[in-house]
Amino acid sequence: MTATDARPTAGLIHKQLNPAARSATERAALMADPGFGRVHTDHMVVIRWTASDGWHDATLTAYQPLALDPAAMVLHYGQAIFEGLKAYRQANGTVAVFRPEENAARFNRSAQRLAMPELPTDLFLAAVDDLVATDLDWVPTAEGQSLYLRPFMIATEAQVGMRPAQEYLFLLIAFPVTPFFPGEVKPVTVWLSDDYVRAAIGGTGEAKCAGNYAGSLLAQRQAAEKGCDQVVWLDAVERRWVEEMGGMNLFFVRSGSAAGGARLMTPALTGTLLPGVVRDSLLALAPSLGLAVEEGRISVQEWRDGCADGTIGEVFACGTAAVIAPVGHVRSRQGDWVVGDGSAGEVTLRLRSALLDLQYGRVADPYGWMRPVG
Ligand SMILES: *Cc1c(COP(=O)(O)O)cnc(C)c1O
Repeated sequence: MTATDARPTAGLIHKQLNPAARSATERAALMADPGFGRVHTDHMVVIRWTASDGWHDATLTAYQPLALDPAAMVLHYGQAIFEGLKAYRQANGTVAVFRPEENAARFNRSAQRLAMPELPTDLFLAAVDDLVATDLDWVPTAEGQSLYLRPFMIATEAQVGMRPAQEYLFLLIAFPVTPFFPGEVKPVTVWLSDDYVRAAIGGTGEAKCAGNYAGSLLAQRQAAEKGCDQVVWLDAVERRWVEEMGGMNLFFVRSGSAAGGARLMTPALTGTLLPGVVRDSLLALAPSLGLAVEEGRISVQEWRDGCADGTIGEVFACGTAAVIAPVGHVRSRQGDWVVGDGSAGEVTLRLRSALLDLQYGRVADPYGWMRPVG
């Protein structure tokens, strides 16, 4: 589906506007320094699913706490999946969402893996369109800011027997966010985790499920104790192949030869990596910047050797929340090393600008990635 397709689903979602929506003054005060995920907008979307009636009662309503039975299955067996995507204020003042169709598709792949019901794509997109259009004034205009959208689904059936639930809630909430300060791109220091793994073949590594994050928190804490910002995950079997960084995918920049420019390599999707929308976008975008791309694999030793002999000049992580974050330093039990000179590299910054220019509507969108809303 492209951004210009008709919206046959208009009216799918019943609207009950929030009578206590915050004033323009209150909103401005909250948006002056929103941080990440602290300040929510005035509304949310709720859609209910039951085995007997399927998806029904789609409602846009006031942001409010949920009433959950203590036996709600999500609280016991963790059937919970989520997505993360952003709406950007465009250079011309309108608002557009970056590749929501991709998030809708991934949401359903996650649902399948967790034995949860799939949400029709038109309903997912209608929820995004309606919430962003209703809370349009919450889409920041400041440089580097955006409206972060968090769709998620939980098992609400009240019974503690062990099986897939028969009742679920889909919810969509939104937060204005400031992930970075304009002009500043601070490289991160990473810890290579060999005590803990994120995902194994046959597990849930490809699904965006809450449990993957619960299982990662101790490793992230260990990384912090080692003075690192983020954990880098290695493969579960050999603890040798580099997979991803925290909740972001990794790219390695091999320096160019006399014959050609730099080459980008990102670990291939083996089943244990989360297939990022930003990862996919960079694979599509890079060739237009004269950068060759490949999906491959890299061991810890190759990473270290490449940095030592200068063939790997830059490494960066990418994801919706932080867009692109350069990796400056690596720490592990086998030793520490620096990537390039430890600062953000030229290719990293060029890709970052190209993606941000597209997302903020400062350049044409030849891919049809931006979905106008409002
Ligand atoms: C969400 C996520 C990513 C990044 O995905 P994007 O769609 O690019 O935001 C990467 N790794 C993990 C583990 C994730 O959960």
